[in-house]
Amino acid sequence: VTKILKGAEVVEAMNAEVAASVESLSAAGVVPTLAILRVGERGDNIAYERAVAKRAEKVGVAVKNVVLPEEASGEAVLQAVENLNTDEGVHGVLMLRPLPKHIDESFVRNTLNPKKDVDGITDLSLSGVFTGIDTGYAPCTAQACMDILDFFGYDLQGKRAIVVGRSLVVGKPAAMMLLDRHATVTVAHSRSVDLATRCRESDVIIACVGAAHMIDADCLAPGQIIVDVGINVAEDGSLVGDVDFAAADGLVDAISPVPGGVGTVTTSVLLKHVTHAATKSVGCHCE
Ligand code: NAP
Repeated sequence: VTKILKGAEVVEAMNAEVAASVESLSAAGVVPTLAILRVGERGDNIAYERAVAKRAEKVGVAVKNVVLPEEASGEAVLQAVENLNTDEGVHGVLMLRPLPKHIDESFVRNTLNPKKDVDGITDLSLSGVFTGIDTGYAPCTAQACMDILDFFGYDLQGKRAIVVGRSLVVGKPAAMMLLDRHATVTVAHSRSVDLATRCRESDVIIACVGAAHMIDADCLAPGQIIVDVGINVAEDGSLVGDVDFAAADGLVDAISPVPGGVGTVTTSVLLKHVTHAATKSVGCHCE
């Protein structure tokens, strides 16, 4: 029987942890606060903003929305980031991306105070994932993949793992985290040859491509553990992952569903980072 790695179970455990931190912070007179910076009106950004706000409210993390118009200048965006950097009432900042094309995103993201970089987007935060030095927070989605594997008790040592996708937000950090857990890691991408064979011979697959059902029956084998990061809209309008769930179900050992898998855990990781940043900022031992 294939185990379905439900995000809700991981979220429940993480929420309990976050709620405990919120309570300790509250006793110290601090309300952990996440600022969400949005430039423009992209539908996917607005949807994520709403989802985060809803979940934040549930666990007692306050949200401060900062919205700039699509045509905002680079200076205006930099100023908004600077304001959040110096605002003592803000402990974490989520900068929704992509920023409008006329803005130098790589420059802007690196002006964020790493202490408030709860989404792990600055180069300094990313360097921590690669060096193992505690420089900030890891990108939430890659962290969510690891938290799912940890929660369900999978030991990755010596396992053959493949990460399909090499973006800076998911694939690359996920590969480093697997390596850190002593897996033997392959990173595949759009130029990879014989992807199906590489997948089939892997014990663990992390799929972060953004192509519906591209990890199909040819890529799957009994005994595999699969974490599906992809979020794609199918022809019938439903949300599906990168993995052909029907082909995996009944064959592999375990798979995270879409929706209800990595995405939901990602939000919890973000909120956990916010309470952690708040705790650090007040120098109390609230965790
Ligand atoms: P991305 O920046 O577009 O990266 C996609 C990666 O997939 C690239 O490295 C690309 O290779 C690779 N790729 C594309 N076509 C391929 C193919 N045919 N075979 C093998 N590799 C292929 O996307 P992303 O931001 O990493 O996101 C990936 C997916 O995860 C998307 O569906 C996104 O919606 C989802 N996502 C989910 C969450 C969550 O919280 N659950 C968060 C972030 C993203 P090249 O490098 O060679 O182009």
